[in-house]
Amino acid sequence: HENILQPDAAINEEGRQEESIRPQRFADYIGQKDLKDVLDIAIEAAKSRGEIIDHLLLYGPPGLGKTTMAMILASEMGVNCKITSAPALERPRDIVGLLVNLKPGDVLFVDEIHRLSRMTEEILYPAMEDYRLDITVGKGSSARIRSIPLSKFTLVGATTRVGALTSPLRERFGLIQKLRFYEVDELSRIVIRTAELLKTTVNCSGATEIAKRSRGTPRIANRLLKRVRDYAEVKSRTEINETVAAEALQLFQVDPCGLDWTDRKMLSVIIENFNGGPVGLETLAAATGEDTQTIEEVYEPYLMQIGYLSRTPRGRVATKAAYQHMGFKPPNEQLS
Ligand code: ADP
Repeated sequence: HENILQPDAAINEEGRQEESIRPQRFADYIGQKDLKDVLDIAIEAAKSRGEIIDHLLLYGPPGLGKTTMAMILASEMGVNCKITSAPALERPRDIVGLLVNLKPGDVLFVDEIHRLSRMTEEILYPAMEDYRLDITVGKGSSARIRSIPLSKFTLVGATTRVGALTSPLRERFGLIQKLRFYEVDELSRIVIRTAELLKTTVNCSGATEIAKRSRGTPRIANRLLKRVRDYAEVKSRTEINETVAAEALQLFQVDPCGLDWTDRKMLSVIIENFNGGPVGLETLAAATGEDTQTIEEVYEPYLMQIGYLSRTPRGRVATKAAYQHMGFKPPNEQLS
């Protein structure tokens, strides 16, 4: 069963469609002001000195625009962007092949960089630091290290788990930037922009309605817009307004805050079975059938962002707002 609120990239038709709506220029990249301010300066400085940009580590939940930013960075610098991900770099020769083919200034984007194999990571250290590839030739006592110079390049690493990076790797990034969840007004601008590209009409309140249910995530906003567009077409509505958006998203069981079955299950377990918490991560994983990593990286950050969940040393706790959203009386009101 497909979950339209999952922020992970799809590998099917939707994944290909995503390319056509991905912003290409800095100016089209909505929100993330802090990130843009930092990169703006890095780009200007690099351009004026005729140098390349420092290696950049982007971290944050999936679907927030890490890949997009790497591609924009390359296009602003007028260089190529090679895109790969750690699971595709299992063998040393995979990363070597990529590195030796980079042209001066190119951007190499490595997604899920916390999952690099140890050997691949060790090849990256001198490559990042001195633009040099150290290769061992021969075996045993006759083994020698041969160094091959590489073009200067910018490594852009992306991860959902910055804490899982080894410190030698983390230390080799000159810039480390966090992407945050988007505000509703930013997401509604993204929805309006995407609607134009898809040649569909959405009014402001329609865009806001979709934005509110998108878990602070552009990828989800774009996906929900497409579902609402289908619904509007089938129902012969010419414009996506608040009512059409709300009807469609209700049909797809997206609740008004963008919570899905797993979010609601987590909250209801905490509230109903554990009296509001604290509840351990393992328990929440078992109750929802998700793995602990997905709970930690995808579900919890958003529930904390909207103030429904807090983390304490003893476990997760449901907030008053969560009680209200789920239709329960908060504990202190129960007492009185
Ligand atoms: P990540 O690499 O963080 O998983 P992506 O960069 O692939 O996320 O972004 C997912 C989709 O969301 C992209 O296809 C793009 O269309 C859209 N998107 C992401 N960030 C923005 C933004 N700041 N402005 C407009 N659209 C965005």
